Amino acid sequence: MSAAGGGARPPSGNRRSRRRARRGRALLFLCAAAVLVAAILIPLLANRHGGAPVDRPADATPEAAATEGYASVFDELAALIAPQTEPLAPTGPPLALSLSTAWTSDNEIAITVDDCFKTGNVRRIMDLCDGLGVKVTFFPVAQAVKNDPSAWREAHERGFLIGNHTYSHNMKLKELPDEEIAREIQGLNWLVNQALGIEYPMRYLRTPGGNADSDPKVREIMTGLGYEYIAHWALSSTGTKAEDLPDRIRPGQVILFHATDADVEKLETVLPRLVELGFRPVTLDQLMGLEPKAAAG
Ligand SMILES: [Zn+2]
Repeated sequence: MSAAGGGARPPSGNRRSRRRARRGRALLFLCAAAVLVAAILIPLLANRHGGAPVDRPADATPEAAATEGYASVFDELAALIAPQTEPLAPTGPPLALSLSTAWTSDNEIAITVDDCFKTGNVRRIMDLCDGLGVKVTFFPVAQAVKNDPSAWREAHERGFLIGNHTYSHNMKLKELPDEEIAREIQGLNWLVNQALGIEYPMRYLRTPGGNADSDPKVREIMTGLGYEYIAHWALSSTGTKAEDLPDRIRPGQVILFHATDADVEKLETVLPRLVELGFRPVTLDQLMGLEPKAAAG
C-alpha cells in the first residue's frame, strides 16, 4: 500500500537533472540544425555573390546585358531586311473591300435602295431625291430590271447609281459553285447593260441579305470580274421607325432601304429631315470620292 502512495513521487534532485538533460539535448539539436542550414546556405550565397558567373563577363551589369541583347536583335533584323532592294511584287489584285462607313468631312451619307421589284416606287424615290437635290444608289435584282427596263435607263440618265444585287437573289450565294457565283454577278450586270443600251461597268456588289459579305471565295470571284467593293451597310431602316432614324445616322454611313411601300414612305419623311439637319445624301461613288466607272456607249 505504501509503495503505491507517497513513495511514487521522485525526489526533487532527480527532476532537476532530467530537466538539464532535456535542455542539453535541445541545445545539441539546435546546433546540429544550424550547422546543416549553414552547410546548405554558404555555398549558395558564395556562388551568388562571389562565385564566377558562367555566361557573362564579371564586369557586365544587367543593363549592359539587356542593351547587348537588343542590339543583337537589331543586327539580325538589319541582316534580314538589308538584302531586300526590290519592292515586293503583288501576287494578284487585292480583294474587294467591304464598305459600310466612309471617311467624310462633309456630312455625306449614302442611302442605298435594294431589290427594287416595284419600279413605281423607284420612280417615287427619284422624284423625291430630285426635289431635294440629293442622290441614292439602287441595287436591283434581275426581275426588277426585266419588269421595267426603262426605269433603269431613266435612273442612269437622272444621275442615280446602279449597283449589283445579283441576278436571282440567292441567299446561299456563297454555297454555289464558282461559275454560278460569277453568273449571278455577270447576269445582273448584263441585264442592266441591255436596259441602258451601254456597257455599264459596276464596282459595288451587295450580296443577298449581306450573307456572303465576308466570304473569301465570293470576294475573289467578284474581284476577278472587276468589282471593287462589297456594299455592306452601317444602318438598316428595317425595324427602325422613321422618326428615330435621323438620330441614329452618322456622317459617312451607308444606309440600307428597300423599294417597298413602307420604306418609300419612310424615305419621304426621313430624307427631307436629313437635308434639314445638314446631311448630304450622295451616291456610293460620291461618298467614296470616285468618278463613275467608265461606261462605254
Ligand atoms: Zn435584297
